[in-house]
Amino acid sequence: MKLNAFEFLDNFALMALAAVLYGIILRLDYPRDVRRILGGIMFGVGAAVSMMDPLRVAPGVIVDLRSLFIGFSGAFLGPVAMVISLTIGAVTRYQIGGTGVVPGIVAMTLAGCSGTLWGYLMRNRSRARVRHLLLLGLMLCVGLLAFLLLPPEIRIKAFKNAAPYAAASYILGALLLGTFVERERFYAMRERRLTNEVNTDPLTGLLNRRGVQSGFEAAQEETVSENGAAILLVDLDHFKKLNDTYGHDIGDLVLQSVGATLRKAVRQSDLLARLGGEEFVVYLPNASMADARNIAERIRAGIETSSVASNGSSIKASTSIGGCWSLNAMDLTTGLKRADVELYKAKQGGRNQVRFTPTIKSAA
Ligand code: GH3
Ligand code: MG
Ligand code: MG
Repeated sequence: MKLNAFEFLDNFALMALAAVLYGIILRLDYPRDVRRILGGIMFGVGAAVSMMDPLRVAPGVIVDLRSLFIGFSGAFLGPVAMVISLTIGAVTRYQIGGTGVVPGIVAMTLAGCSGTLWGYLMRNRSRARVRHLLLLGLMLCVGLLAFLLLPPEIRIKAFKNAAPYAAASYILGALLLGTFVERERFYAMRERRLTNEVNTDPLTGLLNRRGVQSGFEAAQEETVSENGAAILLVDLDHFKKLNDTYGHDIGDLVLQSVGATLRKAVRQSDLLARLGGEEFVVYLPNASMADARNIAERIRAGIETSSVASNGSSIKASTSIGGCWSLNAMDLTTGLKRADVELYKAKQGGRNQVRFTPTIKSAA
């Protein structure tokens, strides 16, 4: 029986499709666990489709990519995704029936575990190289031990006729699918990193002006605010003078220290940004008016009491804070405007103080 090149093409297309879908799933705006589950389902369906259309390498001998897909879900998405894809693969294999059911399912399980182990070994590497993918292919071959479970009369035949083809398909498949998948993973990660960088202030690590707008919209969608929401505008006092006295570098250290104080004062779900210069904004998406006032006061006191060391002396800064609170959703521009009015009052009132306006009209 002569091998038909187009039969290889089927498998090639299936791998390319899996890699494209993998890339799409990685870029979805869902939590990582949800993306992993979706990826597990995708690789499981890949394994099932591959079983429907096996490669006939010799009369009665078929090879397909099921173990490759299941191994890959473990390797690139972890144990949960592997179990999901294995379940889909095992159910499909069970439906097909025949003497090979148990060895087939054992083979998939072994490949899934090998792939997961490979993923674990690779956990600290940012990118898998060709030699790593080669290792993955070899590790997936462990699944071939399941041939030992075949009835004795066909065991030898399976090892002689099918095992070399299966091993070759795992190794070549790991190199090929691995190259596609790595490429998707690498670019998806880079996109994520660049998006973060675009929205981040490099000096303090807080959000920047651009980041605060998208962060604000996301927080409003995600938060069920029962208590109300608040915006605090935080502006350092006489910062120009501090820069002039101690130099710009010390000024930068003070800004970083303010960033750290802000982080300590709020919850993980609150939004912190440096709007520019020595002006910061804090958005509390779910805070009562009393909470917001307390947090503002905590920030003011925290900045007043912390200091930055320079040439043996400790440099202190103070801050004025303007805040506004609303029971209903508010839009950022209106909130900032109201907070700015309060900030102005705090500056006029002698600085190092909090001014707060209780309610703003709902913008929604
Ligand atoms: P006020 O109490 O009224 O707020 O006075 P101020 O001096 O803090 O306000 P002003 O807006 O006049 O000055 C802000 C200063 O912040 C001017 C600038 O030198 C300084 N600044 C802006 N960006 C940076 C920065 O990235 N690093 C440092 N070190 N200083 C900065
Ligand atoms: Mg200032
Ligand atoms: Mg200012």
